[in-house]
Amino acid sequence: SPGDDHQTADEALRVLGRVFGYDSFRGPQREIIEHVVGGGDALVLMPTGGGKSLCYQIPALVRQGVGVVISPLIALMQDQVDALRALGVRAGFLNSTQDLDERRLVEAEFAAGELDLLYLAPERLRVESTLQLLQRGSISLFAIDEAHCVAQWGHDFRPDYLQLSTLHERWPDVPRIALTATATPTTHAEIAARLNLNDARHFVASFDRPNIQYRIVPKSEPKRQLLELLRGEHPGDAGIVYCLSRASVEKTAAFLVENGIDAVPYHAGLDARTRAENQSRFLREDGLVVVATIAFGMGIDKPDVRFVAHLDLPKSVEGYYQETGRAGRDGLPSTAWLAYGLQDVVQQRKMIDGSEGDAEHRRRLAAHLDAMLALCETVECRRVGLLAYFGQESAPCGNCDTCLTPPKSWDGTIAAQKLLSTVVRLKRERNQKFGAGQIIDILLGRKTAKVIQFDHDALSVFGIGAELNESQWRGVVRQLLAQGLLAVEGDYGTLVLTDASADVLGGRREVPLRSEPERPVRAARAGTS
Ligand code: ADP
Ligand code: ZN
Repeated sequence: SPGDDHQTADEALRVLGRVFGYDSFRGPQREIIEHVVGGGDALVLMPTGGGKSLCYQIPALVRQGVGVVISPLIALMQDQVDALRALGVRAGFLNSTQDLDERRLVEAEFAAGELDLLYLAPERLRVESTLQLLQRGSISLFAIDEAHCVAQWGHDFRPDYLQLSTLHERWPDVPRIALTATATPTTHAEIAARLNLNDARHFVASFDRPNIQYRIVPKSEPKRQLLELLRGEHPGDAGIVYCLSRASVEKTAAFLVENGIDAVPYHAGLDARTRAENQSRFLREDGLVVVATIAFGMGIDKPDVRFVAHLDLPKSVEGYYQETGRAGRDGLPSTAWLAYGLQDVVQQRKMIDGSEGDAEHRRRLAAHLDAMLALCETVECRRVGLLAYFGQESAPCGNCDTCLTPPKSWDGTIAAQKLLSTVVRLKRERNQKFGAGQIIDILLGRKTAKVIQFDHDALSVFGIGAELNESQWRGVVRQLLAQGLLAVEGDYGTLVLTDASADVLGGRREVPLRSEPERPVRAARAGTS
Protein backbone atom coordinates (compact mmCIF):
# COMPACT_ATOMS: atom_id res chain seq x y z
CA SER A 1 0.00 0.00 0.00
CA PRO A 2 1.09 3.64 -0.40
CA GLY A 3 1.47 3.87 3.38
CA ASP A 4 4.07 1.10 3.32
CA ASP A 5 5.92 2.83 0.51
CA HIS A 6 6.15 5.95 2.59
CA GLN A 7 7.44 4.02 5.56
CA THR A 8 10.01 2.29 3.39
CA ALA A 9 11.22 5.59 1.97
CA ASP A 10 11.46 7.16 5.41
CA GLU A 11 13.27 4.18 6.86
CA ALA A 12 15.77 4.07 3.97
CA LEU A 13 16.47 7.78 4.30
CA ARG A 14 16.94 7.42 8.05
CA VAL A 15 19.48 4.63 7.55
CA LEU A 16 21.28 6.71 4.90
CA GLY A 17 21.72 9.53 7.40
CA ARG A 18 22.21 7.62 10.63
CA VAL A 19 24.54 4.89 9.40
CA PHE A 20 26.27 6.40 6.37
CA GLY A 21 26.10 10.09 7.24
CA TYR A 22 24.67 11.26 3.90
CA ASP A 23 21.60 13.41 3.53
CA SER A 24 20.27 12.54 0.08
CA PHE A 25 20.24 9.71 -2.41
CA ARG A 26 22.14 9.92 -5.65
CA GLY A 27 20.71 9.25 -9.09
CA PRO A 28 18.45 6.19 -9.06
CA GLN A 29 19.54 4.97 -5.57
CA ARG A 30 16.24 5.80 -3.86
CA GLU A 31 14.11 3.99 -6.43
CA ILE A 32 16.36 0.94 -6.42
CA ILE A 33 16.42 0.73 -2.64
CA GLU A 34 12.65 1.06 -2.34
CA HIS A 35 12.14 -1.62 -4.97
CA VAL A 36 14.48 -4.10 -3.27
CA VAL A 37 13.21 -3.34 0.22
CA GLY A 38 9.77 -4.14 -1.18
CA GLY A 39 11.02 -7.58 -2.23
CA GLY A 40 11.57 -6.99 -5.96
CA ASP A 41 14.48 -8.23 -8.07
CA ALA A 42 16.70 -5.60 -9.68
CA LEU A 43 19.38 -5.34 -12.32
CA VAL A 44 21.44 -2.23 -11.73
CA LEU A 45 23.80 -0.67 -14.26
CA MET A 46 25.72 2.15 -12.73
CA PRO A 47 29.15 3.54 -13.51
CA THR A 48 32.05 3.09 -11.12
CA GLY A 49 31.75 5.55 -8.28
CA GLY A 50 28.04 5.90 -8.89
CA GLY A 51 27.16 4.46 -5.49
CA LYS A 52 26.18 0.86 -6.12
CA SER A 53 27.04 -0.41 -2.64
CA LEU A 54 24.31 1.52 -0.85
CA CYS A 55 21.77 0.00 -3.24
CA TYR A 56 22.09 -3.32 -1.42
CA GLN A 57 23.56 -2.25 1.91
CA ILE A 58 20.56 -0.14 2.87
CA PRO A 59 17.93 -2.75 1.90
CA ALA A 60 19.96 -5.31 3.87
CA LEU A 61 19.73 -3.07 6.92
CA VAL A 62 16.07 -2.28 6.46
CA ARG A 63 14.86 -5.84 5.74
CA GLN A 64 14.80 -8.72 8.21
CA GLY A 65 17.72 -11.13 8.01
CA VAL A 66 21.22 -11.10 6.58
CA GLY A 67 22.08 -9.58 3.21
CA VAL A 68 24.33 -12.00 1.31
CA VAL A 69 26.71 -10.24 -1.08
CA ILE A 70 28.48 -12.28 -3.75
CA SER A 71 31.64 -10.59 -4.95
CA PRO A 72 34.68 -11.81 -6.89
CA LEU A 73 36.89 -9.09 -5.39
CA ILE A 74 38.32 -11.18 -2.58
CA ALA A 75 41.19 -8.76 -2.01
CA LEU A 76 38.75 -5.97 -1.19
CA MET A 77 36.47 -7.90 1.18
CA GLN A 78 38.48 -7.28 4.33
CA ASP A 79 38.53 -3.53 3.63
CA GLN A 80 34.84 -3.42 2.79
CA VAL A 81 33.93 -5.28 5.94
CA ASP A 82 36.26 -3.15 8.09
CA ALA A 83 34.72 0.02 6.66
CA LEU A 84 31.20 -1.22 7.40
CA ARG A 85 32.13 -2.27 10.92
CA ALA A 86 33.57 1.19 11.54
CA LEU A 87 30.08 2.52 10.74
CA GLY A 88 28.54 0.10 13.19
CA VAL A 89 27.22 -2.32 10.56
CA ARG A 90 27.57 -5.97 11.55
CA ALA A 91 29.41 -7.35 8.53
CA GLY A 92 31.52 -10.44 7.87
CA PHE A 93 32.99 -12.33 4.95
CA LEU A 94 33.83 -15.87 3.90
CA ASN A 95 36.57 -16.53 1.37
CA SER A 96 39.65 -18.65 0.76
CA THR A 97 42.04 -16.24 2.52
CA GLN A 98 40.68 -17.22 5.95
CA ASP A 99 41.76 -20.06 8.17
CA LEU A 100 39.25 -22.49 9.57
CA ASP A 101 38.84 -20.69 12.90
CA GLU A 102 38.07 -17.38 11.28
CA ARG A 103 35.56 -19.06 9.04
CA ARG A 104 33.86 -20.87 11.91
CA LEU A 105 33.47 -17.60 13.77
CA VAL A 106 31.71 -15.89 10.87
CA GLU A 107 29.53 -18.95 10.29
CA ALA A 108 28.44 -18.92 13.91
CA GLU A 109 27.62 -15.21 13.74
CA PHE A 110 25.58 -15.80 10.62
CA ALA A 111 23.61 -18.68 12.06
CA ALA A 112 22.93 -16.74 15.26
CA GLY A 113 21.47 -13.86 13.26
CA GLU A 114 24.23 -11.55 14.41
CA LEU A 115 25.14 -10.22 10.96
CA ASP A 116 23.57 -7.57 8.73
CA LEU A 117 25.77 -8.36 5.74
CA LEU A 118 27.76 -11.41 4.71
CA TYR A 119 30.22 -11.13 1.80
CA LEU A 120 30.89 -14.36 -0.06
CA ALA A 121 33.31 -15.31 -2.80
CA PRO A 122 31.34 -17.01 -5.60
CA GLU A 123 33.31 -20.25 -5.29
CA ARG A 124 31.98 -20.65 -1.73
CA LEU A 125 28.59 -21.48 -3.19
CA ARG A 126 30.06 -24.49 -4.96
CA VAL A 127 30.52 -26.02 -1.51
CA GLU A 128 27.38 -27.77 -0.26
CA SER A 129 28.20 -26.88 3.34
CA THR A 130 27.94 -23.17 2.50
CA LEU A 131 24.51 -23.71 1.02
CA GLN A 132 23.48 -25.61 4.13
CA LEU A 133 24.80 -22.80 6.28
CA LEU A 134 22.77 -20.27 4.32
CA GLN A 135 19.72 -22.47 4.73
CA ARG A 136 20.07 -22.30 8.51
CA GLY A 137 19.92 -18.50 8.68
CA SER A 138 17.45 -15.93 7.51
CA ILE A 139 18.42 -14.09 4.34
CA SER A 140 17.14 -10.62 3.51
CA LEU A 141 18.51 -10.38 -0.03
CA PHE A 142 21.16 -11.62 -2.43
CA ALA A 143 23.37 -8.96 -3.96
CA ILE A 144 25.38 -10.12 -6.97
CA ASP A 145 28.17 -7.62 -7.39
CA GLU A 146 30.24 -7.34 -10.60
CA ALA A 147 27.38 -9.19 -12.29
CA HIS A 148 29.06 -8.96 -15.71
CA CYS A 149 31.31 -11.81 -14.51
CA VAL A 150 28.47 -14.10 -15.59
CA ALA A 151 28.85 -13.02 -19.23
CA GLN A 152 30.64 -15.83 -20.98
CA TRP A 153 32.14 -13.68 -23.69
CA GLY A 154 33.32 -10.95 -21.36
CA HIS A 155 36.92 -10.77 -20.22
CA ASP A 156 35.99 -11.12 -16.52
CA PHE A 157 34.03 -14.34 -16.94
CA ARG A 158 33.82 -16.46 -13.77
CA PRO A 159 32.36 -19.95 -14.23
CA ASP A 160 31.15 -19.89 -10.62
CA TYR A 161 28.82 -17.04 -11.49
CA LEU A 162 26.75 -19.32 -13.71
CA GLN A 163 25.55 -21.21 -10.67
CA LEU A 164 24.12 -18.09 -9.12
CA SER A 165 20.98 -18.62 -11.18
CA THR A 166 20.13 -21.49 -8.81
CA LEU A 167 19.91 -19.20 -5.78
CA HIS A 168 16.46 -18.34 -6.99
CA GLU A 169 15.42 -21.99 -6.96
CA ARG A 170 16.49 -22.54 -3.38
CA TRP A 171 15.29 -19.19 -2.10
CA PRO A 172 12.38 -18.17 -4.33
CA ASP A 173 11.18 -15.45 -1.93
CA VAL A 174 14.49 -13.70 -1.37
CA PRO A 175 14.98 -10.66 -3.65
CA ARG A 176 18.08 -10.52 -5.80
CA ILE A 177 19.90 -7.44 -6.93
CA ALA A 178 22.60 -7.77 -9.60
CA LEU A 179 24.97 -4.84 -10.08
CA THR A 180 27.58 -3.94 -12.66
CA ALA A 181 29.48 -0.97 -13.99
CA THR A 182 30.49 -2.52 -17.27
CA ALA A 183 27.50 -3.33 -19.34
CA THR A 184 27.07 -2.87 -23.02
CA PRO A 185 23.55 -3.72 -24.23
CA THR A 186 24.61 -7.27 -25.09
CA THR A 187 26.17 -8.04 -21.71
CA HIS A 188 23.16 -6.45 -20.10
CA ALA A 189 20.81 -8.92 -21.79
CA GLU A 190 23.18 -11.80 -21.08
CA ILE A 191 23.28 -10.98 -17.36
CA ALA A 192 19.49 -10.99 -17.13
CA ALA A 193 19.24 -14.27 -19.03
CA ARG A 194 22.02 -16.15 -17.24
CA LEU A 195 21.04 -15.08 -13.76
CA ASN A 196 17.42 -15.89 -14.42
CA LEU A 197 16.41 -12.33 -13.65
CA ASN A 198 13.41 -12.39 -15.93
CA ASP A 199 11.13 -10.38 -13.70
CA ALA A 200 13.79 -8.02 -12.42
CA ARG A 201 13.31 -4.31 -12.85
CA HIS A 202 16.18 -2.72 -14.76
CA PHE A 203 17.74 0.43 -13.43
CA VAL A 204 20.17 2.16 -15.74
CA ALA A 205 22.02 5.14 -14.36
CA SER A 206 23.57 7.58 -16.78
CA PHE A 207 27.18 6.76 -17.52
CA ASP A 208 27.92 10.36 -18.33
CA ARG A 209 30.46 12.17 -16.21
CA PRO A 210 29.85 15.72 -17.44
CA ASN A 211 32.58 17.31 -15.34
CA ILE A 212 35.28 15.21 -16.98
CA GLN A 213 36.84 16.75 -20.07
CA TYR A 214 37.99 14.02 -22.46
CA ARG A 215 41.04 14.66 -24.61
CA ILE A 216 43.04 12.29 -26.77
CA VAL A 217 46.21 13.61 -28.38
CA PRO A 218 48.82 12.11 -30.70
CA LYS A 219 51.86 11.00 -28.75
CA SER A 220 55.13 12.65 -29.71
CA GLU A 221 57.24 13.15 -26.59
CA PRO A 222 54.92 11.70 -23.98
CA LYS A 223 56.77 12.74 -20.83
CA ARG A 224 57.19 16.33 -22.10
CA GLN A 225 53.56 16.46 -23.16
CA LEU A 226 52.53 15.23 -19.73
CA LEU A 227 54.69 17.81 -17.99
CA GLU A 228 53.12 20.55 -20.06
CA LEU A 229 49.66 19.36 -19.09
CA LEU A 230 50.52 19.26 -15.38
CA ARG A 231 52.31 22.60 -15.32
CA GLY A 232 49.89 24.39 -17.61
CA GLU A 233 46.58 23.16 -16.30
CA HIS A 234 47.03 21.18 -13.13
CA PRO A 235 49.76 22.72 -11.00
CA GLY A 236 49.53 21.35 -7.47
CA ASP A 237 46.62 19.06 -8.33
CA ALA A 238 46.23 15.43 -7.33
CA GLY A 239 46.09 13.06 -10.26
CA ILE A 240 46.86 9.63 -11.63
CA VAL A 241 49.16 8.88 -14.56
CA TYR A 242 48.70 5.43 -16.06
CA CYS A 243 51.51 3.65 -17.89
CA LEU A 244 51.48 0.15 -19.33
CA SER A 245 54.75 -1.18 -17.91
CA ARG A 246 56.44 -1.07 -14.54
CA ALA A 247 59.57 0.31 -16.16
CA SER A 248 57.76 3.24 -17.69
CA VAL A 249 55.99 3.90 -14.37
CA GLU A 250 59.40 4.19 -12.69
CA LYS A 251 60.88 6.37 -15.41
CA THR A 252 57.91 8.68 -15.61
CA ALA A 253 57.69 9.14 -11.84
CA ALA A 254 61.42 9.94 -11.68
CA PHE A 255 61.07 12.38 -14.57
CA LEU A 256 58.23 14.24 -12.84
CA VAL A 257 60.15 14.44 -9.57
CA GLU A 258 63.21 15.81 -11.42
CA ASN A 259 60.93 18.46 -12.81
CA GLY A 260 59.66 19.54 -9.44
CA ILE A 261 56.39 17.61 -9.37
CA ASP A 262 55.42 15.69 -6.27
CA ALA A 263 55.03 12.19 -7.72
CA VAL A 264 55.32 8.57 -6.54
CA PRO A 265 55.27 5.29 -8.45
CA TYR A 266 52.81 2.45 -7.88
CA HIS A 267 52.95 -1.00 -9.46
CA ALA A 268 52.75 -4.65 -8.46
CA GLY A 269 56.54 -5.00 -8.53
CA LEU A 270 57.04 -2.67 -5.56
CA ASP A 271 57.12 -4.21 -2.10
CA ALA A 272 53.85 -4.19 -0.20
CA ARG A 273 54.98 -1.54 2.27
CA THR A 274 56.01 0.99 -0.37
CA ARG A 275 52.79 0.36 -2.21
CA ALA A 276 50.63 0.84 0.87
CA GLU A 277 52.58 3.96 1.81
CA ASN A 278 52.29 5.56 -1.63
CA GLN A 279 48.61 4.77 -1.77
CA SER A 280 47.87 6.20 1.65
CA ARG A 281 49.93 9.31 0.88
CA PHE A 282 47.81 9.78 -2.24
CA LEU A 283 44.59 9.51 -0.25
CA ARG A 284 45.82 11.70 2.61
CA GLU A 285 47.84 14.45 0.95
CA ASP A 286 46.79 17.24 -1.35
CA GLY A 287 48.26 17.41 -4.78
CA LEU A 288 50.23 14.17 -5.00
CA VAL A 289 50.60 12.57 -8.43
CA VAL A 290 50.64 8.76 -8.58
CA VAL A 291 52.26 7.22 -11.62
CA ALA A 292 50.87 3.71 -11.84
CA THR A 293 50.02 0.61 -13.78
CA ILE A 294 46.35 -0.32 -13.84
CA ALA A 295 47.00 -2.27 -10.62
CA PHE A 296 46.30 1.08 -8.96
CA GLY A 297 42.79 2.32 -8.50
CA MET A 298 40.58 -0.64 -7.58
CA GLY A 299 38.66 0.54 -4.57
CA ILE A 300 40.43 3.91 -4.47
CA ASP A 301 37.87 6.48 -3.50
CA LYS A 302 39.45 9.94 -3.52
CA PRO A 303 36.99 12.67 -4.47
CA ASP A 304 39.38 15.39 -5.66
CA VAL A 305 41.46 13.61 -8.30
CA ARG A 306 41.72 16.45 -10.84
CA PHE A 307 43.21 14.55 -13.74
CA VAL A 308 43.80 11.07 -15.06
CA ALA A 309 46.47 10.89 -17.74
CA HIS A 310 47.20 7.84 -19.90
CA LEU A 311 50.64 7.63 -21.44
CA ASP A 312 49.73 4.35 -23.13
CA LEU A 313 46.60 3.21 -24.88
CA PRO A 314 44.13 1.34 -22.64
CA LYS A 315 43.20 -2.12 -23.91
CA SER A 316 39.48 -1.47 -24.02
CA VAL A 317 36.87 1.27 -23.80
CA GLU A 318 35.67 -0.28 -20.53
CA GLY A 319 39.15 0.05 -19.08
CA TYR A 320 39.48 3.62 -20.34
CA TYR A 321 36.11 4.55 -18.88
CA GLN A 322 36.84 2.96 -15.54
CA GLU A 323 40.29 4.51 -15.20
CA THR A 324 39.25 7.99 -16.32
CA GLY A 325 36.22 7.66 -14.03
CA ARG A 326 38.53 8.00 -11.04
CA ALA A 327 38.82 11.70 -11.86
CA GLY A 328 36.41 14.24 -10.49
CA ARG A 329 34.20 12.22 -8.19
CA ASP A 330 33.48 15.47 -6.35
CA GLY A 331 31.80 16.79 -9.50
CA LEU A 332 34.34 19.57 -10.11
CA PRO A 333 35.98 20.09 -13.52
CA SER A 334 38.58 17.41 -14.22
CA THR A 335 40.66 16.23 -17.14
CA ALA A 336 40.94 12.82 -18.77
CA TRP A 337 43.95 13.05 -21.05
CA LEU A 338 45.34 10.29 -23.24
CA ALA A 339 48.40 10.40 -25.46
CA TYR A 340 48.48 7.64 -28.01
CA GLY A 341 50.62 6.82 -30.98
CA LEU A 342 51.41 4.31 -33.63
CA GLN A 343 53.68 2.38 -31.31
CA ASP A 344 50.74 1.69 -28.99
CA VAL A 345 48.82 0.02 -31.78
CA VAL A 346 51.82 -2.05 -32.84
CA GLN A 347 52.59 -3.09 -29.28
CA GLN A 348 49.03 -4.05 -28.40
CA ARG A 349 48.49 -6.03 -31.58
CA LYS A 350 51.70 -7.87 -30.77
CA MET A 351 50.48 -8.61 -27.25
CA ILE A 352 47.19 -9.92 -28.62
CA ASP A 353 48.95 -12.16 -31.16
CA GLY A 354 51.18 -13.54 -28.43
CA SER A 355 48.48 -13.90 -25.80
CA GLU A 356 47.43 -17.22 -24.36
CA GLY A 357 44.03 -18.59 -25.16
CA ASP A 358 42.28 -19.63 -28.32
CA ALA A 359 41.49 -17.76 -31.52
CA GLU A 360 38.12 -16.74 -30.14
CA HIS A 361 39.79 -15.09 -27.14
CA ARG A 362 42.24 -13.23 -29.38
CA ARG A 363 39.39 -12.13 -31.61
CA ARG A 364 37.66 -10.65 -28.56
CA LEU A 365 40.77 -8.81 -27.45
CA ALA A 366 41.17 -7.42 -30.95
CA ALA A 367 37.54 -6.23 -30.97
CA HIS A 368 38.12 -4.42 -27.67
CA LEU A 369 41.23 -2.75 -29.07
CA ASP A 370 39.41 -1.75 -32.26
CA ALA A 371 36.65 -0.06 -30.26
CA MET A 372 39.29 1.85 -28.30
CA LEU A 373 41.07 2.89 -31.52
CA ALA A 374 37.80 4.05 -33.03
CA LEU A 375 37.30 6.31 -30.01
CA CYS A 376 40.81 7.71 -30.48
CA GLU A 377 40.41 8.41 -34.19
CA THR A 378 36.84 9.68 -34.20
CA VAL A 379 36.10 13.13 -35.61
CA GLU A 380 32.93 13.26 -33.54
CA CYS A 381 32.33 14.11 -29.89
CA ARG A 382 34.34 11.75 -27.63
CA ARG A 383 31.56 11.62 -25.07
CA VAL A 384 28.97 10.67 -27.68
CA GLY A 385 31.25 7.81 -28.75
CA LEU A 386 31.98 6.74 -25.20
CA LEU A 387 28.34 6.72 -24.13
CA ALA A 388 27.26 5.01 -27.34
CA TYR A 389 29.65 2.21 -26.43
CA PHE A 390 27.58 1.70 -23.28
CA GLY A 391 24.37 1.88 -25.28
CA GLN A 392 23.46 5.41 -24.24
CA GLU A 393 22.55 8.13 -26.70
CA SER A 394 23.67 11.69 -26.19
CA ALA A 395 24.29 14.98 -27.98
CA PRO A 396 27.71 16.58 -28.62
CA CYS A 397 28.97 17.67 -25.22
CA GLY A 398 30.99 20.83 -25.75
CA ASN A 399 33.50 19.53 -23.18
CA CYS A 400 35.85 17.27 -25.10
CA ASP A 401 38.69 18.01 -27.51
CA THR A 402 36.73 17.26 -30.66
CA CYS A 403 33.86 19.52 -29.56
CA LEU A 404 36.20 22.32 -28.44
CA THR A 405 38.50 22.15 -31.45
CA PRO A 406 36.76 20.21 -34.20
CA PRO A 407 39.42 18.22 -36.04
CA LYS A 408 39.80 18.85 -39.73
CA SER A 409 39.58 15.89 -41.96
CA TRP A 410 41.28 15.50 -45.30
CA ASP A 411 41.14 13.14 -48.23
CA GLY A 412 43.88 10.65 -47.45
CA THR A 413 43.14 8.34 -50.38
CA ILE A 414 46.30 9.13 -52.34
CA ALA A 415 48.50 9.07 -49.25
CA ALA A 416 46.99 5.70 -48.29
CA GLN A 417 47.64 4.37 -51.81
CA LYS A 418 51.27 5.50 -51.69
CA LEU A 419 51.79 3.86 -48.35
CA LEU A 420 50.03 0.63 -49.24
CA SER A 421 51.87 0.34 -52.56
CA THR A 422 55.18 0.73 -50.74
CA VAL A 423 54.22 -2.25 -48.59
CA VAL A 424 53.18 -4.15 -51.73
CA ARG A 425 56.42 -3.39 -53.60
CA LEU A 426 58.64 -4.46 -50.75
CA LYS A 427 56.76 -7.72 -50.62
CA ARG A 428 56.53 -8.37 -54.39
CA GLU A 429 59.91 -7.10 -55.52
CA ARG A 430 62.05 -7.94 -52.52
CA ASN A 431 59.97 -10.40 -50.52
CA GLN A 432 60.47 -8.13 -47.52
CA LYS A 433 58.31 -6.78 -44.73
CA PHE A 434 59.17 -3.73 -42.66
CA GLY A 435 57.74 -1.69 -39.80
CA ALA A 436 56.30 1.81 -40.05
CA GLY A 437 59.64 3.57 -39.49
CA GLN A 438 61.34 2.15 -42.57
CA ILE A 439 58.24 2.54 -44.76
CA ILE A 440 58.00 6.21 -43.80
CA ASP A 441 61.73 6.75 -44.45
CA ILE A 442 61.23 5.31 -47.93
CA LEU A 443 58.18 7.52 -48.60
CA LEU A 444 60.06 10.60 -47.42
CA GLY A 445 63.11 9.70 -49.52
CA ARG A 446 65.48 9.59 -46.58
CA LYS A 447 68.85 7.98 -47.21
CA THR A 448 69.28 6.51 -43.74
CA ALA A 449 71.86 3.80 -43.06
CA LYS A 450 69.12 1.20 -43.09
CA VAL A 451 67.68 2.51 -46.38
CA ILE A 452 71.11 2.26 -47.99
CA GLN A 453 71.82 -1.13 -46.46
CA PHE A 454 68.68 -2.57 -48.06
CA ASP A 455 69.07 -0.59 -51.26
CA HIS A 456 65.61 0.86 -50.71
CA ASP A 457 66.53 4.12 -52.44
CA ALA A 458 66.37 2.16 -55.68
CA LEU A 459 62.67 1.43 -55.25
CA SER A 460 60.33 3.36 -57.56
CA VAL A 461 58.33 4.49 -54.52
CA PHE A 462 61.41 6.06 -52.89
CA GLY A 463 60.60 9.69 -52.05
CA ILE A 464 57.04 9.68 -53.44
CA GLY A 465 55.58 10.94 -50.14
CA ALA A 466 57.50 14.15 -49.57
CA GLU A 467 54.29 16.21 -49.40
CA LEU A 468 53.67 14.99 -45.85
CA ASN A 469 56.01 15.16 -42.86
CA GLU A 470 56.93 12.30 -40.60
CA SER A 471 54.29 12.93 -37.98
CA GLN A 472 51.62 13.17 -40.66
CA TRP A 473 52.75 9.86 -42.11
CA ARG A 474 52.64 8.27 -38.67
CA GLY A 475 49.09 9.56 -38.41
CA VAL A 476 48.25 7.96 -41.74
CA VAL A 477 49.64 4.59 -40.61
CA ARG A 478 47.84 4.80 -37.27
CA GLN A 479 44.51 5.61 -38.85
CA LEU A 480 44.84 2.96 -41.54
CA LEU A 481 45.49 0.46 -38.76
CA ALA A 482 42.46 1.75 -36.85
CA GLN A 483 40.30 1.47 -39.98
CA GLY A 484 41.49 -2.05 -40.71
CA LEU A 485 43.09 -1.02 -44.01
CA LEU A 486 46.51 -2.10 -42.81
CA ALA A 487 47.66 -4.61 -40.20
CA VAL A 488 50.74 -5.26 -38.11
CA GLU A 489 52.22 -8.64 -37.41
CA GLY A 490 55.07 -10.37 -35.68
CA ASP A 491 57.57 -9.31 -33.06
CA TYR A 492 58.88 -6.43 -35.12
CA GLY A 493 55.51 -4.90 -35.88
CA THR A 494 55.87 -5.27 -39.62
CA LEU A 495 53.12 -3.79 -41.77
CA VAL A 496 51.01 -6.03 -43.98
CA LEU A 497 47.92 -5.55 -46.14
CA THR A 498 44.44 -6.62 -45.14
CA ASP A 499 41.59 -7.84 -47.35
CA ALA A 500 40.21 -4.31 -47.38
CA SER A 501 43.50 -2.79 -48.62
CA ALA A 502 42.83 -3.90 -52.18
CA ASP A 503 39.82 -1.57 -52.48
CA VAL A 504 42.00 1.39 -51.59
CA LEU A 505 44.76 0.38 -53.99
CA GLY A 506 42.20 -0.22 -56.72
CA GLY A 507 40.67 3.22 -56.23
CA ARG A 508 37.33 1.77 -55.17
CA ARG A 509 37.42 3.18 -51.68
CA GLU A 510 38.14 6.67 -50.37
CA VAL A 511 40.04 7.19 -47.18
CA PRO A 512 39.00 10.22 -45.13
CA LEU A 513 41.57 10.94 -42.43
CA ARG A 514 41.68 13.12 -39.35
CA SER A 515 44.33 15.88 -39.50
CA GLU A 516 47.07 15.77 -36.94
CA PRO A 517 46.64 18.82 -34.70
CA GLU A 518 49.42 21.40 -34.99
CA ARG A 519 49.41 22.15 -31.30
CA PRO A 520 47.99 20.26 -28.37
CA VAL A 521 44.39 21.13 -27.51
CA ARG A 522 44.15 23.00 -24.27
CA ALA A 523 41.30 23.11 -21.82
CA ALA A 524 38.73 25.83 -22.53
CA ARG A 525 38.70 26.88 -18.92
CA ALA A 526 42.45 27.47 -18.87
CA GLY A 527 41.69 30.58 -20.89
CA THR A 528 44.12 29.89 -23.71
CA SER A 529 43.17 28.91 -27.19
P1 ADP B 1 30.47 1.97 -6.92
O1 ADP B 1 30.43 0.67 -6.16
O2 ADP B 1 29.28 2.20 -7.76
O3 ADP B 1 31.76 2.18 -7.65
P2 ADP B 1 30.45 3.09 -4.29
O4 ADP B 1 29.27 2.37 -3.77
O5 ADP B 1 31.80 2.61 -3.84
O6 ADP B 1 30.42 3.15 -5.86
O7 ADP B 1 30.28 4.63 -3.95
C1 ADP B 1 31.24 5.56 -4.39
C2 ADP B 1 31.37 6.67 -3.36
O8 ADP B 1 30.20 7.48 -3.34
C3 ADP B 1 31.56 6.15 -1.94
O9 ADP B 1 32.48 6.97 -1.29
C4 ADP B 1 30.19 6.32 -1.35
O10 ADP B 1 30.26 6.44 0.05
C5 ADP B 1 29.72 7.59 -2.00
N1 ADP B 1 28.26 7.68 -2.04
C6 ADP B 1 27.41 6.73 -2.50
N2 ADP B 1 26.13 7.15 -2.38
C7 ADP B 1 26.17 8.38 -1.85
C8 ADP B 1 25.16 9.36 -1.48
N3 ADP B 1 23.87 9.12 -1.65
N4 ADP B 1 25.59 10.52 -0.97
C9 ADP B 1 26.91 10.76 -0.80
N5 ADP B 1 27.90 9.89 -1.10
C10 ADP B 1 27.53 8.72 -1.62
ZN1 ZN C 1 32.20 16.42 -26.97
